[in-house]
Amino acid sequence: MRVTDPAVATAAIVGNFNEVRQHIRAACEAAGRDPSSVTLTAVSKTQSAEALEAALAAGQTVFGENRVQEAYQHWAHQREELELRLIGPLQTNKALDAVKLFDVIETLDREKLAAALADAMAKTGRTLSVLVQVNTGAEPQKAGVLPEDADALIAKARDVYGLAVSGVMCIPPADQDPAPHFRMLKNIGDRNGLAVLSMGMSGDYREAIACGATHVRVGSALFGARNPLIST
Ligand SMILES: *Cc1c(COP(=O)(O)O)cnc(C)c1O
Repeated sequence: MRVTDPAVATAAIVGNFNEVRQHIRAACEAAGRDPSSVTLTAVSKTQSAEALEAALAAGQTVFGENRVQEAYQHWAHQREELELRLIGPLQTNKALDAVKLFDVIETLDREKLAAALADAMAKTGRTLSVLVQVNTGAEPQKAGVLPEDADALIAKARDVYGLAVSGVMCIPPADQDPAPHFRMLKNIGDRNGLAVLSMGMSGDYREAIACGATHVRVGSALFGARNPLIST
């Protein structure tokens, strides 16, 4: 059935939020974890204004966006009430715009970007929390630092560029069991003293919570399928 009535579409999205939150609580209980130790990041890329309104109506305040420009269109007008997390690849020439808007950059994956972010933070006087993205599957087409280079990049980002590195993030290969990738990411976080683990998406956030995720990034399970023409 195609939902065309906006009130029906809003109710469906609010229902999805309640359902995903319930699943998160259940996964925390099953893992013996406090439900407040996991934050739901609603991935709002490609969503309509109505869908964003529905998410706000559901009480959501933490959003993930893949693109700087789109994030401005979605959220710049009501910036204050929200926590905005950049979860897509960042080009150095967009670092200043990203630092002006976001609270957290989850996709630091190279030294040049660390330098650009440090520069942008100095210029704006803003201090953002930063996660290092790890390409746990070493996939050639995917962003992220290789697992064997993660410790060195984390150390550089902190010690050379003075960034507030708080955690690590990964996107496991689509065609593999994600659990070994989640465990690898936790291991990298643990040995570097980083508490924040951003891992798990619509298909696997419950497994990610079992493996220690502190932030799950969920899009389609909340909003429905994305428009394939503009999906990233
Ligand atoms: C799109 C996206 C998500 C959300 O994916 P779903 O499968 O729709 O939940 C999570 N993380 C990143 C980095 C993404 O690009």
